Amino acid sequence: MTKRVAFIAGNWKLNLDHQQGIALVQKLAWTLKDAGHDYAGAEVTVFPGFTSLRSIQTLIDADKLDITLGAQDISAFDSGAYTGEVSGLALKKLDVKYALIGHSERRQYHNETDAVVQAKVSASFRHGIVPVICVGETLEELEAEGAAAVPVRQTLAALADHSALGDFVIAYEPVWAIGTGQVATPEQAASVATKIRTAIREAFGDEVADKTRILYGGSVKAANVAGFLRSPEVDGVLVGGASLDAEEFSGIARFQKHLAI
Ligand code: PEP
Repeated sequence: MTKRVAFIAGNWKLNLDHQQGIALVQKLAWTLKDAGHDYAGAEVTVFPGFTSLRSIQTLIDADKLDITLGAQDISAFDSGAYTGEVSGLALKKLDVKYALIGHSERRQYHNETDAVVQAKVSASFRHGIVPVICVGETLEELEAEGAAAVPVRQTLAALADHSALGDFVIAYEPVWAIGTGQVATPEQAASVATKIRTAIREAFGDEVADKTRILYGGSVKAANVAGFLRSPEVDGVLVGGASLDAEEFSGIARFQKHLAI
């Protein structure tokens, strides 16, 4: 069976200018180096705002850092009269490896429907960028349908265009746990991840299900990360607030240290 490398993703959201971003990545890289971080065991990816991508790419390149780069969104379109959009073509030129798609904040504040998410996932595949597809239920949906129904439905909707399936990552983020300090239990996260993987297996077969990384996100910190990653079903974490602090985020990336305890 394919070994899934842990994925530690930091979503900076609408925070930090490019100079602050450079300082954060430098500090993160030093901290991880000092701690002897093994990137082959846990990939570390930052998702800065668009205006910081070029600066962070240059830093990663010049200092030969093992940190990888992601974008917080991608346009469904490649070029043309789409004011304000950023295309996969341009992102690929900046060595962007991943794109967050369908984050609950985009679904909530920018009316991103499953159809929009699916079109963006297709754009990602077209440009060889790995989509990190965010799925998760609101508190009302949790009460009405339980935890797994909405994430499973959103996962299958995002991947509805089977013809061009590339590698993808799923980030299970219960909406009620994002930025609230309210955390799902490791058991809840593992149970939903298992159901998402089963749905992927039924739709796309064993190979895709076995290689796909499924993350948990929602108020993750260095102090609680190990609980989530103890389950073999959870392959990493998507981190918002705590990714803005280099020491805290490196503590999350170094989750294996906590596992031993
Ligand atoms: C996120 O932005 O995806 C997130 C999980 O945020 P936080 O860690 O702050 O809850």
